[in-house]
Amino acid sequence: MTPGVRPLIAGNWKMHGLRDDGLALARAVAGGAGAAKGAELLVCPPATLVREVAAALEGGAVAVGGQDCHAAAKGAHTGDVSAPMLRDAGARFVILGHSERRADHGEGDAAVLAKAEASMAAGLVPIVCVGESEAERLAGEAEAVVTRQLDGSLPDGFAGAGGVVAYEPVWAIGTGRTPTESDIAAIHAAIRAKLRARFGEAGGTLRILYGGSVKPANAKAILALENVDGALVGGASLVAADFLAIAAAA
Ligand code: PGA
Repeated sequence: MTPGVRPLIAGNWKMHGLRDDGLALARAVAGGAGAAKGAELLVCPPATLVREVAAALEGGAVAVGGQDCHAAAKGAHTGDVSAPMLRDAGARFVILGHSERRADHGEGDAAVLAKAEASMAAGLVPIVCVGESEAERLAGEAEAVVTRQLDGSLPDGFAGAGGVVAYEPVWAIGTGRTPTESDIAAIHAAIRAKLRARFGEAGGTLRILYGGSVKPANAKAILALENVDGALVGGASLVAADFLAIAAAA
């Protein structure tokens, strides 16, 4: 944790959730939000559910986010969703540059940067994901990769918009494996140093989330680490009790 910083526990539902299940999950999270104590809670449903989940959660303690947006506000981009559309549907945050987007859709840092700019222009808070592959970790390049991704994908206005960075080692996502606590702390310290160098004092309090196989069993230890200001949770965010248990550990 960073002193004075409110942790953010974000659920990335990925491509899960038909209407009834998604609404039930959102309502169960909202119903148990009191367990989160000081943490801010966020759920990021698939685009089809953003509006209805946002309406169901309106006025409550749980915010809603998108999982991606296009860099353009509108136009001939079949199948895409823009940042103003997400905002209009009730989203306040948007996850950008997730490794699944980078892998499935070939998104590089320049694309993530453009999306981050678009999201901020629309009044959304970007959650920019970075993280090394297993080969990069084994080659001792984790910190260099993450630093390069931050250089390439964070826009100038990021700190002013209260932007969030999520460190998600690709090999830890959905695998049940996590880096050691000291490895997580080392990367988060490097990210913090980068944010301070780029944004000055404001970079000292931007939230840095850890993501990758966060579960109720490991949440407390991970969230206690210096510069870990919350979690981006995939699989465990699909079970309200697990997501809330993670939030309670923050
Ligand atoms: P996981 O996913 O918690 O299922 O590992 C995290 C993520 O991809 O954001």
